[in-house]
Amino acid sequence: MSPFPVSENVLQMKGSSTLIAAAAAADMRARGIDVIDLSVGEPDFDTPDFIKQYAWEGLQKGLTKYTATAGLAEFRSSIVDFYGTRFGSHFDQSQVAATCGGKQALFNAACTLLDPGDDVLIPKPYWVTFPEIVTFCRANSVFIETEVTDFILTADQVAASITDRTKLLIVNSPNNPSGRVIPHDEMIRIVRTCASRGVYVLTDECYLFFAYPPAQPFSLASLPDELRHFVCVAGSFSKTYAMTGWRIGYTIANPEWTNAMVKLQSHSATHPTSFVQYACAKALQNVDATINAVNAMTTEYERRRNWFVPALDRIYGFKCSMPEGAFYALVDVRDMLGDKFRSSADVADLLLSEAQIVVTDGEGFGAPGYLRFSYATSMENLERAIEKLKSIFGSAS
Ligand code: PLP
Repeated sequence: MSPFPVSENVLQMKGSSTLIAAAAAADMRARGIDVIDLSVGEPDFDTPDFIKQYAWEGLQKGLTKYTATAGLAEFRSSIVDFYGTRFGSHFDQSQVAATCGGKQALFNAACTLLDPGDDVLIPKPYWVTFPEIVTFCRANSVFIETEVTDFILTADQVAASITDRTKLLIVNSPNNPSGRVIPHDEMIRIVRTCASRGVYVLTDECYLFFAYPPAQPFSLASLPDELRHFVCVAGSFSKTYAMTGWRIGYTIANPEWTNAMVKLQSHSATHPTSFVQYACAKALQNVDATINAVNAMTTEYERRRNWFVPALDRIYGFKCSMPEGAFYALVDVRDMLGDKFRSSADVADLLLSEAQIVVTDGEGFGAPGYLRFSYATSMENLERAIEKLKSIFGSAS
């Protein structure tokens, strides 16, 4: 039989490198091996109970049918009110659409803006999906190097990268995989730079609340109208509220962009699950309970970060500066490369075979020579991992 003729758009896309590490962990677990999985990209907490109760309430109310493609009015107005209260934002429901997770928000935004041949600026390191969405749209990813600024994108770097072909910049702060947070004033300068050149900004705010003091959560939804016109916020409930499996997110963008995204979504997912939208709307209306639940989780992530990152930095050959947000540490292992390890992937392989520790190689994030460690796991696992790392590589003096 002739091979299945996968479309060119999809053929050109790469599979997710983060899933490769997850598959390796699953395989070892299935063989009864006690793995320490530091490749996880999801919270180790359960969804807060009160949100589950709201989902049940939604079901009992009969919210089991289609909603509007852009989502329940109550969902959209809750986003408007929550952002107004929390970030002082001013936008209305016509600028909000419900999506099936942050990923669909990103996909909708890119697919409704990009034409074949457009250039899209993507700062390195980047989340694996960004260039693949660009490829799907037959646009070109133009990467911005940020190592000189310690992986924090600056407006100058953006200005130097814009050309007549640039249509979009994709930013992600707090960042996966680096955990770095772009300061508010720099973020505003970045958007101003883009807006002045007619370049749009897609901001992936999936880790919005995971910024540890003195860093503070900051949403581009709070920009004034003339700047927000150029911005699409891709929001997600997945990480913030430990709801990865519920598949719910949203976009906040100007009404024309929103209408185009709703049109696209009307021919694909239609909308996220009706009673899930209801649960999220109710959760956002219950601001205190929601913020308390998020704070409890972020406090624990911060505690782990404060212990784990310096401990990683003390492993011989590892270099890691303190990330301000998300739940990842990006460790520079380039000092270890040579005859024994040709690449960071070799180091990751050794960790897997000798210590049963699963981490993600930086190559897929545009950061070869680095390894991403997730601390969305128990302190006990982090402590066990550090003990094993010390016994393999030793401690730096
Ligand atoms: N954006 C980033 C940076 C992520 O790390 C992830 C998930 O790992 C997503 C978006 C996708 O989130 P969701 O589960 O809401 O689709």
